[in-house]
Amino acid sequence: RQAEFAKWVNRSSVSSDGHSVELAANIGKLEDVQKALDNGAEAIGLFRTEFLYMGRSKLPTEDEQFNSYKYVLEKMNGKPVVIRTLDIGGDKELPYLNLPKESNPFLGQRALRFCLDRPDIFRTQLRALLRASRYGNLKIMFPMIAVLSELHAAKQLLEEEKRKLEAEGVELAERIEVGMMIEVPSAAISADLFAKEVDFFSIGTNDLIQYTMAADRMNETVSYLYQPCHPSILRLIRMVIEAGRKEGKWVGMCGEMAGDETAIPLLLGLGLHEFSMSASSILPARELIGHLSRKEWSSLADEAMALKTQEEIIAFVRNHKQGGQ
Ligand code: PEP
Ligand code: MG
Repeated sequence: RQAEFAKWVNRSSVSSDGHSVELAANIGKLEDVQKALDNGAEAIGLFRTEFLYMGRSKLPTEDEQFNSYKYVLEKMNGKPVVIRTLDIGGDKELPYLNLPKESNPFLGQRALRFCLDRPDIFRTQLRALLRASRYGNLKIMFPMIAVLSELHAAKQLLEEEKRKLEAEGVELAERIEVGMMIEVPSAAISADLFAKEVDFFSIGTNDLIQYTMAADRMNETVSYLYQPCHPSILRLIRMVIEAGRKEGKWVGMCGEMAGDETAIPLLLGLGLHEFSMSASSILPARELIGHLSRKEWSSLADEAMALKTQEEIIAFVRNHKQGGQ
C-alpha cells in the first residue's frame, strides 16, 4: 500500500468535485517534521510544544525554544506551521515544577489555565515564538480555552511581548495568525462569540469528546463512550465550522478524528478546511478525499446527522462511501 500511496505525496488535496482542503501533520518532536514532509503534509496543523518541557530537569530557555521553533518553520519552508502553546497538566506532568496534586487533573489547572497562572513561563514561550516568526509561516494556537476572558488574557500577554520585542528592534513576521483549540464544550457551544476574536479554530476532538461525554480518554472501562461520530459530537463540530464560516475564519481539526476514514467524508461534507493528523494517515486521507464529492457529502452529512446513534452513522457512511467510489 505504501508504494501505491507514494504518487499522492506531491499532490494537493482536492475532492472529486474540485473542492480543496489542507492535509496537515501533528508533530511532537523535531524529527517528526521530516516524516511529515515525506508523507506529503501541506502544513503542520499541531506542534505539541510540551515535549520541549518534558523529560528534563528544568524549563527550556527562551533560546532553546526559539531554536526549535525556527527549525520547524525553516524546514517547512513557508508552509503553515501551527504551534500550540504549552499544554501541561492533565496526564502530562513537569516534576521539576512541584505543582500541587489535584484530585481531577483533567478538570484542573491544565494548559492555558496553567500558563495564565504562571505568566513568567508563558511569556518566555511567547517571546520565543515571536522571535521565530520571521523564519516561516507561524500561526500561534492557545489550548483548552473555555471562556472569552482566557483568550483575552492570552492575547494581551502576546501583544505585550510583541511590543517589547519591537521596542528592542527585533524583526518579527508582518502577520502572525492567532487561533485557539476548540476542545472544551463551552467553547464549541459559544464558538460564534470566539470566532470574532481569532483568526482560526482547530477542533481538538480528543479532549472535546472526553469532556462532552464526561469519559476519561485514558480509561478503558468507559471507552464505549468515546464516540467521535456520536450525534452530539457531530453537532458540536458543525456549530464550530458554521461559526467560523460566518466570520470568514478557517476551521481545522487536530484530534485523532481528523484522520479517521469514517469521519473524513462527514467532515468534508460539513466544510472542514484543514485536517491535521499523524503523518502516516495523510496519504490515505488524500486518496480518500480524491474519491469523495464535497457537494454530495454535504447533503449526506445532513442525512447522517439525523440518525440517532454512532453505530447507525458509521454504517451510513460506510454504505455511501462504497456507493460513491
Ligand atoms: C485534542 O485534544 O484533540 C488534541 C489534539 O490535543 P491533545 O491530544 O494534545 O490533548
Ligand atoms: Mg487536547
